[in-house]
Amino acid sequence: MNSRELNDRAAWLRGPSAECSVVPERLEQPWRLVLLGPPGVGKGTQARLLTQRLGACHLSTGDVFREAKTRNERQQTLAMSAALNSMRRGTLVPEAIVWQVIRERASCLRCQGGFVLDGFPRTLAQAKVLKLLLENERLSLDAVVNYELPLAEIVSRLSGRRTCQSCKAIFHLTAQPPRTEGVCDLCCDALYQREDDRPEAITVRLNAYQSSTAPLIQFCRNLGLLTPVVASGSPEEIFRRTATALEKRRKFDSGSSVTSRKSARVWSPEMLACGGNESGNGNNI
Ligand code: AMP
Repeated sequence: MNSRELNDRAAWLRGPSAECSVVPERLEQPWRLVLLGPPGVGKGTQARLLTQRLGACHLSTGDVFREAKTRNERQQTLAMSAALNSMRRGTLVPEAIVWQVIRERASCLRCQGGFVLDGFPRTLAQAKVLKLLLENERLSLDAVVNYELPLAEIVSRLSGRRTCQSCKAIFHLTAQPPRTEGVCDLCCDALYQREDDRPEAITVRLNAYQSSTAPLIQFCRNLGLLTPVVASGSPEEIFRRTATALEKRRKFDSGSSVTSRKSARVWSPEMLACGGNESGNGNNI
């Protein structure tokens, strides 16, 4: 796997007034992916592995809300306080708030390194908003990866999950324990259990996922974008399956750096306006 410096995603996490510390490398053919799958299926871990390999940015809506939680209450907008209340209960954040969050961060969809969307879209209505946004930008998705896992395994993964409060690395009490209990292996900060990973919130989240995501999955299937991947086994096994599934759509690499290949075709909206199609499959979500 290529070792790239991971972007701190400041523009995504804190909004467009913040600047990312590492600007992703400009790619000739950036990957643009959406990850679907019930909570606990390992989307966050796979998103990190994918972004490392592909040079894309990890755009997680859950991370935007968790980042807002770290700000003091007087800095919260009313909308963000409402979003955080939904999150605590394990229910979906109201659509209008999610759309506002995404619209404010639309520049991240144009990121020159591509993106891996994780946690958005979660409903059919959100998928339609994303489709419109991408059409306006004349961008296409390469695939919607749908991670599948039996219910009992999902519950066990969620209740044992622990997250680093600083670097957001993910551990599991039994499947991937940290070297020292409660301490992150990577940055030595404390691990915590997300409020919405507590048993009372897990059932609510899984029900919300079931009812809101089924029509979304059908929508992506109809667009020819759905790429199912079995999410059992270790993160590395799931990643290999993801790579194999994506390889069937397009060569699975970082999409060629423009800076390292001076003669490479450089993307511009004008080229697309003349009938070109950047991702090659023409399927906007
Ligand atoms: P996640 O980290 O993706 O599991 O998201 C954590 C929580 O954030 C969810 O349980 C929801 O409350 C909220 N959330 C994240 N993304 C969305 C979304 N696209 N639509 C509605 N709520 C969301």
